[in-house]
Amino acid sequence: MSNMSHDSVSRRDFLRTTTCGAAAVGLGAMATGTLAAPTASKPATTFKKPPLPYGKLGRTGFPVTLISFGAIRISERLGTRITKGVIDAGVNLIHTSASYMGGNSITAIADLFRTDKSYRDKVFLCLKSFNPDSEKEIDEMLKMLGTDHTDALLTTFEKADPRRLEAIQKQQEALIKKGKLKHTGFVCHGDMHGVMELTLEKAPKFFEVTLLAMRMLPLGKDKTSDDSTRFLKNLKAFRENGIGILSMKSGAKGAVEQGADVFLPHAKAVLDAGCNSVLTSVNSFEQIDMIKTLDLKSRHMTDDEKKAAAAFLDDRPQACLMCARCRKVCPQGLPVNDLMRIRMYNDEYGWPDHARSEFSTLSLDAKRLACACGDCTTCTQVCPIGLAGAGTVRHVAEMFV
Ligand code: SF4
Ligand code: SF4
Repeated sequence: MSNMSHDSVSRRDFLRTTTCGAAAVGLGAMATGTLAAPTASKPATTFKKPPLPYGKLGRTGFPVTLISFGAIRISERLGTRITKGVIDAGVNLIHTSASYMGGNSITAIADLFRTDKSYRDKVFLCLKSFNPDSEKEIDEMLKMLGTDHTDALLTTFEKADPRRLEAIQKQQEALIKKGKLKHTGFVCHGDMHGVMELTLEKAPKFFEVTLLAMRMLPLGKDKTSDDSTRFLKNLKAFRENGIGILSMKSGAKGAVEQGADVFLPHAKAVLDAGCNSVLTSVNSFEQIDMIKTLDLKSRHMTDDEKKAAAAFLDDRPQACLMCARCRKVCPQGLPVNDLMRIRMYNDEYGWPDHARSEFSTLSLDAKRLACACGDCTTCTQVCPIGLAGAGTVRHVAEMFV
């Protein structure tokens, strides 16, 4: 599944037609289109209350459990059993995509839905999609899952491009009319500030759900920055507009693996910052048992919990903020932020298969990429955490040579 963005085409052209260290292809200016009208509100629906602590997912009104399931790492029979275990534990939102684990994630969930159709009705299903110009990928995912609709569609929205926003709106409105979609949504791990601010300006009431990278939350000690202040301001505006906020890339995966003493304070901190649910990639039955025991009825954090949450975040100094500054300045038009996220999947998360799968969506030639930067230092100069740079780009490229 590929992301057919304009710059992906430019990058492909660049890497196909130039030699190492050669000059770059510039990106053309984006035209601004007319935006469609916001989606009309849905009639009120009665939802079953879950057994685990929950809150309202924005204007959807859905009582989402405070911990939800990101099925990014599941596959085969174990994946099906994990999904069943998560839902049996009371978690009521799951997120998957045909791109996860080379299609194995969605297949594992489909196997559960096929075996027992009631499981489909127990969850708020979120699907990630890449191409707002075609319904094919949505139809294929729905067919695979044996369902006629998804509860939310999280279309990738990585750059503050009004044309992309317009295309997403147009597609999602059409899907709602056809009954294939209940609630509008998008996912962003790119230009977080730009995308949030464009949405607030052009379509403040259109989206009902969003999945956002939360690395800019000021959760560690001394973490308040211009980025965190701006991010929190936009997050607050989203919530005021009734957009349900799902968190990702907060570090939840690592926190879950360290057990309740780390995950509970982390989850409380993320929820307290303004998220409705912490999406996490549970992958063992021990983790499911732990989630069942979490006391999230109160968000109050003791001093020890505050210290634990801050210490966990401070232990990840090289976790990408997902600010996309590096990408914006790259004279080669390289998707530097995506490459840094792929580094994270491989080096921090230990998910080489997922890193490879994500790399394949970029349509880059790894050999050429390995020597594309030359002695350029442009992205290094703007990266607030000193992560982006020619060396890191080469490191990522060499994973796939
Ligand atoms: S060093 Fe950074 S800015 Fe320069 S070409 Fe490489 S990725 Fe782009
Ligand atoms: S690598 Fe640095 S500049 Fe690029 S998105 Fe991450 S934090 Fe921002």
